[in-house]
Amino acid sequence: MKEEPVIYELSSPGRVGVQLPPLRKPQKGIDEYLPTEEIRDELPLPEVSQIDVVRHFVRLSQLNFSIDTDMYPLGSCTMKYNPKINEVTGRLSGLSAIHPYQPDGQIQGVLKLLWNLQGLLSEIAGFPGVTLQPSAGAQGEFTGLMLIRAMLTEKGSPRSKVLIPDSAHGTNPATATMCGYKSIGIPSGPDGEIDIEAIERLLDDDVAAIMMTVPNTLGVFETRIEKVCDMAHTVGAQVYCDGANMNAMVGRVRPGDLGIDVMHLNLHKTFSTPHGGGGPGAGALCVKKHLIPYLPGPTVAIDKDDQYFRQHSLSKSIGKVHSNMGNFGNLIRAYTYILSNGKSGLKSIADNAVLNANYVRVRLRDRYDLPFDRTCMHEVVFSGTRQKALGASTLDIAKRLIDYGFHPPTIYFPLIVPEAIMIEPTETESRETIDRFIEALVAIADEAEFDSSILRSAPVSAPLGRLDEATAARQPDLRYSPR
Ligand SMILES: *Cc1c(COP(=O)(O)O)cnc(C)c1O
Repeated sequence: MKEEPVIYELSSPGRVGVQLPPLRKPQKGIDEYLPTEEIRDELPLPEVSQIDVVRHFVRLSQLNFSIDTDMYPLGSCTMKYNPKINEVTGRLSGLSAIHPYQPDGQIQGVLKLLWNLQGLLSEIAGFPGVTLQPSAGAQGEFTGLMLIRAMLTEKGSPRSKVLIPDSAHGTNPATATMCGYKSIGIPSGPDGEIDIEAIERLLDDDVAAIMMTVPNTLGVFETRIEKVCDMAHTVGAQVYCDGANMNAMVGRVRPGDLGIDVMHLNLHKTFSTPHGGGGPGAGALCVKKHLIPYLPGPTVAIDKDDQYFRQHSLSKSIGKVHSNMGNFGNLIRAYTYILSNGKSGLKSIADNAVLNANYVRVRLRDRYDLPFDRTCMHEVVFSGTRQKALGASTLDIAKRLIDYGFHPPTIYFPLIVPEAIMIEPTETESRETIDRFIEALVAIADEAEFDSSILRSAPVSAPLGRLDEATAARQPDLRYSPR
C-alpha cells in the first residue's frame, strides 16, 4: 500500500480548519468549570486544514470493503443493499430529534409508526405478539428463551435441556447456556435436514425447547418442520425458530403458521437496515399468544380512543432487555423498507433471493464440491475439499476473492461441512454482478489447479494482507503511534 501521511503528521502550528468566534469573558456559573484557552492549547491535537481532515476520513473509509462498493456474499448474514430512502426517513427531524422520555401524547406519530411496524412484522411472520426491543439477533434469542423459561417455570419447572441441530448458528447454543439450559445437539440427516429419529430419541419432558433455523444453515428448507413442532408440543416443549434470516420466506411462508412458538427477525438482515462494523442492530421477537404476557415492556398499544401508548408492564413480563423502544433508528428504516416494497415487493425479494442462490449453485457445482446438491433457499454451501487437496484451502480461496473485488463468503461454517464456503448472493445483486462473481470463483478454481501458491499468498491487492485474526480480536491496537 502507498503510505499516506496520517493526520497527526500533517499538523502545522497555527493551521486551522474552522474559524471560531473569540471566547466570551468567563461568566460565573457553568463557565468556571470549562477549561481555559491555555489548557486547550496544551492538548496534543493535530492542527490541520478542513481539506486535510476530509481527505483523512474519506481515505480511511476507502480502506474498508462495503456493500456500497461491491458484492458481499457473506452467507447467513444477508448483506443486501441498504436502500438510501431508509436514510432519508431515518433523518427526518420529527423522528430523529425526539426524546424517548417525551410523554406519549407528544409523540403519537412515532408510536403509530412503531405500532404499525409491530403489526407488519406480526403479519409477515404469522405471530400475534411482537417486541421491538432486542438490539441484535442473539439478544432476540435470549429474550425468546427467557420467555419460554418464564412460562415453563410458572407451569412448575423451567426444565433443563434445549435441543439444537448440529447445523445451528453459534449463537443458539450460547443463548441456551446463558438462559441456564444444557444444549443437546441433534444430528442432521444425509439430506441436510434435521433427523426426526434423533429427535424421537432425545425428546422427553425435561426438554424446554427445540431451537432450529429455517431454512437451516445449509440453505435447506426443513420440510418436516410441522412434524417437529407436533413432536415438541406433545411433550410440552416449545419450538424456537432462529429467523435471523427470513430472506427466503418473506411474503411466501409465515413461520407462525407452521407451528413455531417464538422467532426473532434480524431487521438488519432481511429488512435492510445498516449492518456490520458493530453498529446497532434490531432483533425483533415474535411470539404466539400464550407467550405475550411475558414480553419485555414497553410495547406499543392503542386505546379505545385511538390513542397510542407505551404499555410498560405486561402482566408477567420478564423485564426490560433494552432501554425504551430498542434501536429506534433501525426500526424507522425497517418500516420504510417494508412499506416501500409492499406486499408484492416482499414476495419478489424471497423469489429473487432463492433464484440467485440456485443460479450460483448450478453454475459452480462442476467446479466446487456440493455436499447437499438439492434446491437451496437463500444461500448455498459448497465445500473446498477438492481445492484443499491441491494445496489451496477454503481460507485461501476466500482471501483470493478479495483480489477479484469481492468480499469473501462465510467460511468454515456450518461446522458440519468440511472446508465450507457459504454463499448468499441476496436478491439485490444483478445478473451481471453475479456472473462476475461466478467467473471469479471459476478463475480461482483454475488457479488452484494450475498454481495454488497464488492463492496461498492472497490477497495481494488489499491495503493489508492476512491478519493474525485471533490476536487482532484479543489484543486490538487501536491507537495511533508515530512511525
Ligand atoms: C446473524 C445470525 C444470528 C445472530 O444475529 P446477530 O444480530 O449478529 O446477533 C443468529 N442466527 C443466524 C442464523 C444468523 O444468521
